[in-house]
Amino acid sequence: MSQSLKIENLHASVEDTEILKGLSLEIPKGEVHAIMGPNGSGKSTLSKVMAGHEDYEVTAGTVLMDDVDLLDLEIDERSRAGFFLAFQYPHEIPGVSNANFLRAALQARLPKGEEIDAVAFYKDMYAKMDALSMDRKFTGRSVNDGFSGGEKKRNEILQMMMLEPKYAVLDETDSGLDIDALKIVAEGVNRMRSPERGFLVITHYQRLLDYIVPDVVHVMSDGQIVKTGGKELALELEEKGYDWVTEELAVTA
Ligand code: ADP
Ligand code: MG
Repeated sequence: MSQSLKIENLHASVEDTEILKGLSLEIPKGEVHAIMGPNGSGKSTLSKVMAGHEDYEVTAGTVLMDDVDLLDLEIDERSRAGFFLAFQYPHEIPGVSNANFLRAALQARLPKGEEIDAVAFYKDMYAKMDALSMDRKFTGRSVNDGFSGGEKKRNEILQMMMLEPKYAVLDETDSGLDIDALKIVAEGVNRMRSPERGFLVITHYQRLLDYIVPDVVHVMSDGQIVKTGGKELALELEEKGYDWVTEELAVTA
C-alpha cells in the first residue's frame, strides 16, 4: 500500500470550462509540498475538487489517498478518511458556535454509541487555541461569522489541529495575515508536521514558505504542474516572477 496523496491526470471543469488540465503530483506521507502559481491558474479549483465541491465536474483522473480514491467518497467521508482543506475563503456558519461545530466534527469520527469526553475536548481545544493566540471568546461565537480575514484563517488552522487529518491542504492560508499572525499559524502547522501526515501548502507568495519550509515546490500554470523543484525554487520564483516559468515552457515546447 502506498502512503501518499497521489493525484494523477486530473481534469476538472466548471460550467463546461476545463480548469484542471491533466494535473499530476504525489505527496508522500511525512512531506510538505507547496504549490505556487499565478492567480487564476486553478489552485483553489484543485483544492475544492479534492474536497468534493459540487460546482466542479471531474472528467478524468484519480486522487488516491493511501490507495483510496477520494473522488469515490462523499464529502463527509473524505473528511472522516483523513482529508482536510483549509479554505482560501472560509465559510461563515451563523448560528453554529465554534465549539459545537468542532465537537460535532469530532463526534462524527467516533464509532456509533461512543460519546465524546466533554472535559477532554475543552481542554484540548483551549490548549490549541492558546497555541494559536486565539481568545477564548471565539469558542462561543458562530463559526467565522463576522471574523476578520486573519481570524478566519486562524480558525481554519484550529480546525485542522483539532481534526488531526492525515493529509491537509492549506489554500492561501497566508493571505490576510499580518507577519505576527503568519508566524503563529506557521508554527501551528510546523508542530503538526509528522511522518504520519502530509501537507499541500498553496500560496501565491514565497513569504509563507520562509516559515513553513517545504520539501518540494510545484509551480502550477493553466491547470497543470509545469515545474517541480526543491525549496529554492520558491525563491527563484519570487525573484524572477511566474512569467519566467511559462516563457521557459514556450521555448522548450
Ligand atoms: P487560483 O486559486 O489559482 O487563483 P482558481 O482555481 O480560483 O485559481 O480559478 C481558476 C479559474 O477557474 C479562474 O479563471 C476562475 O475564474 C475559474 N473558476 C473557478 N471556480 C469557478 C466557478 N465556481 N465558476 C466559474 N469559474 C470558476
Ligand atoms: Mg485561489
